[in-house]
Amino acid sequence: MKILVIGSGGREHALVWKLTQSPNAKQMWCAPGNAGIAQERLAKNSSLVECVNISAEDLSKLLAFAQEKKTDLVVVGPDNPLALGIVDLFQKHGLRIWGVNQKAAQFESSKVFSQKFMEKYGIPTAAAGTFSDAAAAKRFCATLGGKCVVKADGLALGKGVLICTNQAEAEKAVDEIMVSKAFGSAGANVVIQEFLEGTEVSLHALCDGKTAKIFPTSQDHKRALDGDLGLNTGGMGTYSPTPFLNDTQLADVAKKVLEPFMRGCVAESIDYRGLLYPGVMLTKNGPKILEFNARFGDPETQVYLTRLENDLVELLDASVNGTLDKIELKWKPEASVCVVMASGGYPGNYEKGKPVRGLDVAAKLPNVKVFHAGTTRNENEIVTNGGRVLGVTALGMDLKTAQAAAYAAVEKIHFDGAHFRRDIAAKAF
Ligand code: AMP
Repeated sequence: MKILVIGSGGREHALVWKLTQSPNAKQMWCAPGNAGIAQERLAKNSSLVECVNISAEDLSKLLAFAQEKKTDLVVVGPDNPLALGIVDLFQKHGLRIWGVNQKAAQFESSKVFSQKFMEKYGIPTAAAGTFSDAAAAKRFCATLGGKCVVKADGLALGKGVLICTNQAEAEKAVDEIMVSKAFGSAGANVVIQEFLEGTEVSLHALCDGKTAKIFPTSQDHKRALDGDLGLNTGGMGTYSPTPFLNDTQLADVAKKVLEPFMRGCVAESIDYRGLLYPGVMLTKNGPKILEFNARFGDPETQVYLTRLENDLVELLDASVNGTLDKIELKWKPEASVCVVMASGGYPGNYEKGKPVRGLDVAAKLPNVKVFHAGTTRNENEIVTNGGRVLGVTALGMDLKTAQAAAYAAVEKIHFDGAHFRRDIAAKAF
């Protein structure tokens, strides 16, 4: 199979790395990819994965490239091309592509759509209201005593969610999103949810339009600093499994969420083929869905794919074909931990172009895989090229072992200003 992967982050490196192991993969490209992806080789014939300099949002160039190479499968990593309708476009031209179509991508691209869907189909979620009028939004915040979360409807680079502890803050948040339009048209409508207390976990399920197969649990660390302090980021590290849901509880959550989700999709004529990633708060009143994402999480992918035993090409193929019911997902019993190494200053301003040293030494450590996110090649060296630079991932017989292995690898890697959290997976202990 000739496979094109779209995206350039740690998630895409993990997808490429896992896909290269498939005996079904005989040629692979990644657009635009990164320096780590460009070092991956296919298990079948040792050929290198080729990075192609096309942006993940340039749909017409991506289409022309896939047509020229006669790809057999296109795999989409990030949410933006999905929301732009890349799947619909490629399908219209007869190309096989894995990811959700534009209608299904609304679960991520519109929080109003998701919230209304959850309420209509009885999926457990926060008490909430959806508003297009700022005054009405503020009145609703008051009914929650100002303890609420104000969310811009549209995609806002993960920044359109404002947590408020009192009415003054809530009114300021509504004004920022709806009146000052801090997130542009993404803030024309808002969802306001009650503030939920509890433990947050990430769930993933692979879907094929009829069947949804749940993954084990994982947990992300969104804040920049240890102890969940500092600014919100794309994610500073993950681990899997989490101790917060045992297998029985996970099966119960899957039943409460995935069954009505798939039923609702059928009722609304949404052909959901791709990845569903619900953000879940485990509250004292049971699990509540905070939001849906319509693609793999980053850095959840890094811990999931290091644990996955199945051939990923077969899985994605079954998701496209609607034959997931015939496949059993198999996971290594080992735990996996991913520590993100970021540029100094991230998620604020940061410099690029810092040489990254020690990658070879880290790569030689047992059970370690260093996934690249924001890296590029500058002549003979690999240099930083983004906020999140690397996802240093390790497997271990238990979480403690995996955590120690991941941090041992982090210690070997250096770049100017490197920043990482020292408490990834610590919540589990
Ligand atoms: P979202 O993009 O909707 O997942 O929100 C981003 C983050 O805000 C989540 O990962 C949570 O940490 C937090 N959050 C969102 N909704 C709520 C809520 N209703 N209660 C408490 N925290 C929330």
